[in-house]
Amino acid sequence: MSVTVRWAPSPTGRIHLGNARPALLNWFFARRNGGRYVLRMDDTDLVRSTREFADGIEADLAWLGIVPDMLVRQSERTGLYDAARDRLIASGRLYPCYETEDELDRKRARARLLGKPPIYDRAALSLSDEDRARLEAEGRTPHWRFRLDGRPVQFEDVIKGPQTVNTASMSDPVLIRADGSYLYTLPSVVDDIDLGITHVIRGEDHVSNTGTQIEIFEALGGRVPAFGHHNLLTDAQGQGFSKRLGSQSIADFRDEGYEPLAIAIVATLTGTSLPVEPYDSLDAIAERLDFSMISHGSARFDPAELNGLNARMVHTMNYAEAAPRLSALGLEGEAMWMLLRENLTKFSDIADWSTLVTGPIAPATAIEDHDFLALAKALLPPDPWDETTWSHWTDALKGATGRKGKALFLPLRLALTGRHDGPELKSLLPLIGRKACLDRLP
Ligand code: GLU
Repeated sequence: MSVTVRWAPSPTGRIHLGNARPALLNWFFARRNGGRYVLRMDDTDLVRSTREFADGIEADLAWLGIVPDMLVRQSERTGLYDAARDRLIASGRLYPCYETEDELDRKRARARLLGKPPIYDRAALSLSDEDRARLEAEGRTPHWRFRLDGRPVQFEDVIKGPQTVNTASMSDPVLIRADGSYLYTLPSVVDDIDLGITHVIRGEDHVSNTGTQIEIFEALGGRVPAFGHHNLLTDAQGQGFSKRLGSQSIADFRDEGYEPLAIAIVATLTGTSLPVEPYDSLDAIAERLDFSMISHGSARFDPAELNGLNARMVHTMNYAEAAPRLSALGLEGEAMWMLLRENLTKFSDIADWSTLVTGPIAPATAIEDHDFLALAKALLPPDPWDETTWSHWTDALKGATGRKGKALFLPLRLALTGRHDGPELKSLLPLIGRKACLDRLP
C-alpha cells in the first residue's frame, strides 16, 4: 500500500511551532515511506480564513523545506461535501435540529442539575414532519447533527497504541451550521476518502474527533485510514501555542534569522527520545525518527535549547554554504567566516561581528592605557602580516613595558575591536591589516 498523508491547517493565521510539528511529522512519514504529501487548506470558515494566510502558510512550509505533492482548498470542494451530506441524510445519519444556542444552554444546565452529563438529548430526532414545518414557519433554519452509534470505537493509534473512544459519552456532533456552512468534521472525512489518505497524523487534541470521524468514514462507506496522535508542543510556560493569542509564528522565527532546520528540529524532536541536536537535513531526521520515539508525555519548547542548537549549526557551517548568504549581506571572505562563525548565535549576527574586520568599530580605550597604546602603535610590525605577527608584536611590547597577561592583551583587544570578548587576535590581526590597525590605535 502506498502512503498518502495530509497536513490540514486552517488558514486563520500564520502557523506557529505547534503547527509545524504535525506539518513535519507527516512529511517525515511520507519521506520514510516514499509516500505522497497533500497540503489541505481547511478554509471552510469563510469569516476567519483568508487567502493571504493560506499563501503565508505555503511560504512557511517551503521555508521549512517541505514540498507538497498536492494542494487542495476545502472552499473549492463544497460539491463533494454536499453529496456526502445528502447521502447521510438519506441514510438517516444526519438530522435537522432547531434549538437555539440559548435553548441548548438551558438543556445543558438542566442536565447538570440532575447530575447527568451535558449530552444533547436528541429531541430533534422525534420531531414529526409537522413539527419541522411549524418550526421553519417560525423562521428557524436547522443545523444538522450526525447520529452517533454510541459505542466504543476502537483503533490502533500508530503513535499512542490501542485507543478506545466511547461515542456514547458524546453529543451527536453538529456537522452543518444553520447558515449551511460545514464545520471541519465532515469535510475532513470526505477529503480523506476522496484523496486516498492512508494515515492521518495529527495532535492528540483530535483523539475524540477520531472516534466520531471513524463512524462517519463507515457511514459513508469509505476506507478508514490509520490514525496517529502526537503529543502537543507547549510554550516555555507549558501553555499551548495559539494563533489567536499571538504565539510567535514560524515567519517571526524566520525574520529573526533562525535556521529553518533548527526550527524543524526543535518543533519535532522536543518531546521525543531523540536528542535535540544538529541534523544535516529533514531527510536525516526522517530516517531516524520513528513514531515509537514520540513521548506520551508533554513536549515543552525551550527557547534556550533553540538558541543553543541554532548556534551549533552556524558554528559548523562551511564557507560554501555561508558564501551566498554572506554576499547577500555585502560580505565575503573565507578566513573571516571561519574565524568569526563560532561567535554567532544566528547567521545574521555576522553583520555586527564582521565590523571587527571591516570596521568601523568604536574603540574602547582607557585614558591610563594611552601611553601603552602609543608605544604599541610605534612597535606595530611591518608588512607582510601573518598569524605570527601577533606574538612578535606582543613579545616586543612585553619586553619594552614589562606588562604581561591581561594588562598586556586587554588594552590591545579593546582598542582593536572595542570589545572584551571575541575571536583570537592572532588570527584577527592579519584580517584587519596593518593600515586599519594603525587607524584604530589612538
Ligand atoms: N484543520 C484541522 C486543525 O488544524 C485539521 C485537523 C486534522 O488534521 O484533521 O486542527
